[in-house]
Amino acid sequence: MSRQRALVTGGAGFLGSHLCDALITEGWNVVAVDNLITGRRGNLDHLRNEPAFEFVEKDICRPFDVGKVDYVFHFASPASPVDYMQHGIATLQVGSLGTFHALDVARTYGAKYLVSSTSECYGDPLEHPQKETYWGNVNSIGPRSVYDEAKRFTEAVTMAYRRYHKVDTRIVRIFNTYGPRMQLNDGRVVPNFMKQALRGEDLTVYGDGSQTRSFCYVSDEIDGFMRLAKSDEYLPVNIGNPNEFTILNCAERVLKVTGSKSRIRYEPLPQDDPKQRRPDITKARTLLGWEPRIDLEIGLQMSLEYFRKAVIEETAVRDIP
Ligand code: UDP
Repeated sequence: MSRQRALVTGGAGFLGSHLCDALITEGWNVVAVDNLITGRRGNLDHLRNEPAFEFVEKDICRPFDVGKVDYVFHFASPASPVDYMQHGIATLQVGSLGTFHALDVARTYGAKYLVSSTSECYGDPLEHPQKETYWGNVNSIGPRSVYDEAKRFTEAVTMAYRRYHKVDTRIVRIFNTYGPRMQLNDGRVVPNFMKQALRGEDLTVYGDGSQTRSFCYVSDEIDGFMRLAKSDEYLPVNIGNPNEFTILNCAERVLKVTGSKSRIRYEPLPQDDPKQRRPDITKARTLLGWEPRIDLEIGLQMSLEYFRKAVIEETAVRDIP
């Protein structure tokens, strides 16, 4: 039997590239598409000589065709607050136009389809922890709306293609994920703190650091995607680690794991920064038998070598006369 072929949009991104690896390990041929505005070719360097893998640099905001595929994994989008606020229009475009085009590929080839959505769909949540049935508390005109509303629209288009065009769809709502291949300068809390701790700079805690997030290590997250991809569940499923930390706790863990003597500096809280976030993963547990295994401190230790190397490389580039 010939190998099945998967398309991964956003395949050069942090999560997209790990997903490519998981698919290849499971015997898929993979074509990754990325326009590299926030993705990095370097995330796929290790696949350069992999016969089951191909990379196509392409902007999916225009209609595209990479030949027959059996599964479409639509992961293209800037995803960190710094990135999506810098690329606000592109974020709205990829969530809307890009999603139509990814779904058109699935429709053309009768392929299955899984899209990455986000806990940002819940906005600054008034329900805690967040179940998939919660409709959210999103400011549609605030600075984060370029991402939040793009992803809510992505979910709407996905459900419409299911209803009107019978595309076999799935939606994963991803909560804060971290691990190797995160961009050092994407502004998210884990890379920021790791970079600052390893450089001996102050850790920048926004607000008083009492806001919470629940951090999932990347291998756990990918395991959740793969299980959902094989299931028939078409309504959104939260995939995230329910262990909740204040941002101050997170800073303390990073200091411990890095052995850094850095201090904490408080900076203003960005507008509309969600005060709390924790997934209710009952659905993933019961439906997919999925359970995150890696605790924050262990995951930070597992990421340490990557961040250390990234800091050294960045310093070397910065210091070139
Ligand atoms: N944050 C912080 N210091 C930083 C970067 C982020 O205190 O250097 C906070 C941010 O205000 C938010 C949380 O950490 O409350 C998570 O931010 P991140 O950008 O990682 O992702 P978000 O969950 O907001 O999408």
